[in-house]
Amino acid sequence: MADYVFEDAQQESLPVPEDGLTASQLFSTGEGLTYNDFIILPGYIDFTADQVDLSSSLTKKITLKAPLVSTPMDTVTESDMAIAMALSGGIGIIHHNCTPEYQAMEVQKVKKYKHGFIRDPVVLSPNHTVADVLRVKAKHGFSGVPITESGKLGSRLVGIVTSKDIDFIEDVESQQNEKLGRAMTKLEDLITANSGVALQEANSILEMSKKGKLPIVNERGELVSLMARTDLKKNRSYPNASKDGNKQLLVGAAIGSREEDKARLKCLAAAGVDVIVLDSSQGNSKFQIEMLHYVKSAYPELQVIAGNVVTCAQAKNLIEAGADGLRVGMGSGSICITQEVMAVGRPQATAVYKVSEYARRFGVPVIADGGIQSIGHIIKGLCLGASTVMMGSMLAGTSEAPGQYFFSDGVRLKKYRGMGSLEAMERRDSGGSAMDRYFHNEMDKLKVAQGVSGSIVDKGSILKFLPYLQCGIKHGSQDIGARSVSELRSKMYSNEIRFERRTQSAQIEGNVHGLFSHEKRLY
Ligand code: IMP
Repeated sequence: MADYVFEDAQQESLPVPEDGLTASQLFSTGEGLTYNDFIILPGYIDFTADQVDLSSSLTKKITLKAPLVSTPMDTVTESDMAIAMALSGGIGIIHHNCTPEYQAMEVQKVKKYKHGFIRDPVVLSPNHTVADVLRVKAKHGFSGVPITESGKLGSRLVGIVTSKDIDFIEDVESQQNEKLGRAMTKLEDLITANSGVALQEANSILEMSKKGKLPIVNERGELVSLMARTDLKKNRSYPNASKDGNKQLLVGAAIGSREEDKARLKCLAAAGVDVIVLDSSQGNSKFQIEMLHYVKSAYPELQVIAGNVVTCAQAKNLIEAGADGLRVGMGSGSICITQEVMAVGRPQATAVYKVSEYARRFGVPVIADGGIQSIGHIIKGLCLGASTVMMGSMLAGTSEAPGQYFFSDGVRLKKYRGMGSLEAMERRDSGGSAMDRYFHNEMDKLKVAQGVSGSIVDKGSILKFLPYLQCGIKHGSQDIGARSVSELRSKMYSNEIRFERRTQSAQIEGNVHGLFSHEKRLY
């Protein structure tokens, strides 16, 4: 007993023994580490989790309210994903496995997005029939369809068809050929709002009108968008949305480093893109450096993220060429077989630590790209010096990810595939240049896949998933004792944050074990 009982005064004067490793000690052994190979030791909490500030730099000039980026893959980021990412404080990077025009249109959809307004409603013409509305209902689940002269958005509004207009006809097959010009509620009986109307005002017009839909028209009476009563209930504000000086959502787009990518870049710049990602699995190349110089000189206002890199020597060349941000990761992605096929790459935790520690001397933020499987991995990436994390598999399978759901053995799934998979590369005939990420040479006739194609379970909407991620990061940061993402970095560099290696058995212990069965509900 007497061995460990001290007088108070004596106890205070005792120094706390050194515990755990500094980040530099952790990564000094010469072995590459993954996120699972280490753990962060808890710190001191004198603040609440909701006080943790998640804002962090994406590039030299762009700061996000949440350190989350969706990857430019054709099963992850098009406009729906990019809008949801930006609304939640992160950013989406639109993929380039498509024509430049398609990609620019996706960028434009994000830039033009106004919360609460449906920008691409289903529209029919007076010459369509009730049967067409029934088809819309079967496919989309609603029957409120605005009717314009040409049956397209941007044409003069002449009426609207709602379930009330077709309720009785629905059951009578013989009447389903009735033209919508007859069945619709005509313009004179409609309440509309003028384009330019603020969200709140449009909301109250819709509420007062007691109608299901509010068409928004311009001064020529042409339909520009639609508001739906069902959305009104869902409407909530997004105070952390990532926006530019014109209050438009921020969006990025990926390009390759070939000559023809200059024309793609021109389309993207005209569409208002904020940040360009030079998309290569090995970014330390003459081609990327030349493209980096070109983008910076032709479009000085655009921020450019270069990569991918995993070593300081690679980073040095891209930083010297003017990169505003670096994408770090090679071979860590969930769909990636680069390390297996090419014998190059680096375990992700080591790559993130080494490159971030070097790039910070030049004020260049790092994106930890690939291999994120959990909130814990996000926290680890940020704690090793990354400013943001880029995710593929974490975001795939959500309703905002491109592609249709399908069922396999009763499970609802969506496709997720590597951009270096044969399946994705075969889409090049669609005008895409994403294949260039893996091949620099036109002569590469024989493709060597660096990725696989698979599927991911339905995760619901990203708008529910991202708040869960953010809340989790705040709690992790609190346990570490850091009030912000930038404090995670500074406390790591000042050696206040301590780490420890995890043995195999430590990793087993750190997961659920010893149960006959369990349910893992995350939020
Ligand atoms: P995940 O978040 O672990 O699914 O990894 C996504 C990341 O993997 C992307 O952001 C890319 O950096 C990388 N990636 C995408 N497609 C491929 C591929 O086909 N092979 C190797 N890496 C890929």
